[in-house]
Amino acid sequence: MSIAFIDLQAQRARIADRIDKAVLEVVHDGRYVMGPWVSQFEQELATFSSAKHALGCANGTDALVLPLMAWGVGPGDAVFCPSFTFCATAEIIPWEGATPVFVDIKPDTYNMDPDSLEAAITMVKAEGKLVPKVIIGVCLFGQAADYRALRAIADKHGMKLIADSAQGFGTTIDGRHPTDWADAVTTSFFPAKPLGCYGDGGAVLTNDTALANLIDSYRVHGKATPEDLATHKFEHDPRYLNMRVGINSRLDSIQAAILIQKLAIFADEIEARNRVAARYNAALAGHVKQIPHVPDGFVSTWAQYTIEHDNRAGLIEHLKSQGIPAMVYYPVPMHRQGPYAHYPMAPGGLPVSDAKAASVLSLPMHPYLDEATQDAVIAAVIGYSA
Ligand SMILES: *Cc1c(COP(=O)(O)O)cnc(C)c1O
Repeated sequence: MSIAFIDLQAQRARIADRIDKAVLEVVHDGRYVMGPWVSQFEQELATFSSAKHALGCANGTDALVLPLMAWGVGPGDAVFCPSFTFCATAEIIPWEGATPVFVDIKPDTYNMDPDSLEAAITMVKAEGKLVPKVIIGVCLFGQAADYRALRAIADKHGMKLIADSAQGFGTTIDGRHPTDWADAVTTSFFPAKPLGCYGDGGAVLTNDTALANLIDSYRVHGKATPEDLATHKFEHDPRYLNMRVGINSRLDSIQAAILIQKLAIFADEIEARNRVAARYNAALAGHVKQIPHVPDGFVSTWAQYTIEHDNRAGLIEHLKSQGIPAMVYYPVPMHRQGPYAHYPMAPGGLPVSDAKAASVLSLPMHPYLDEATQDAVIAAVIGYSA
């Protein structure tokens, strides 16, 4: 028996006709970059997550750096983020010359611990060398961070809040999307993410129109915004009026056309993922060290189904022998990675991040995981733990 960790072909089987038709439509049309599919998808994406604006870009990493560029974050600024995350969350901070400050996570949700954040901000302020500017919360494994608490801390200190929702796009708290709390929500359309395309892609969502206009400028080489044009005399194509040093970060028309089809079934897929997670949870509770905890009112998109085990290596070996893939996200937290080890972290270190990195493993999870396959995974995990 061979089991897929994430079965993208199962999804493809469901909507292959629609996707192939959409791709060929773009191929025949010829508007490959910034074609009408991009703006259609941006509108539908904004509607899906109750945001005023959605801006496509080249990948989820660029989506994170674009708001930093728009806010002018640079040398001397502190940006607070978790250490237990995919590296892109932290990587974009030194890109802008700013300093990442690593914050610990909560042991049950793996998401940013507001107390650790508050302590880190207080420490940075007391040292007086860096100015606290931005908080980046991460929807790790698909579940929203406690954005209510993070928003309150951001407001208290006059800081901006980004929700890195690359893994959690579609997650809600009491029915509300992270766009309700974060100044900018970012996501990735890398194929294995819950909402993925057939290559690279990303987006920024925001309710802040001025921020949206600036991001639109930065993603196209710093082109003029509507405000720039209103205050400048320029008789040529505004794309060639460069108001700031930008980048080239666009979503391709083909990817947007694919994403329009995938977004149409995304809500249904989130429900399917939740059914799989509920079955896993019910069967595995009490058999492993920890099963995922989703607080009341939160809905996860289950980018990963992650458990903890005291003998992780042994369990992974056992699963592999039964044809069941398991992955470790993430074995080394950012504050232990060479290029990042010298950056500051919350007072007292990051004991929870360190402990989790040593015991987490993720099991096969996708919307098309049938019950027989779930049962095989469950039996193998319980068989090892018994
Ligand atoms: C995947 C991911 C990103 C980066 O997305 P790319 O599209 O690969 O650039 C950023 N943050 C998190 C948490 C991710 O999982």
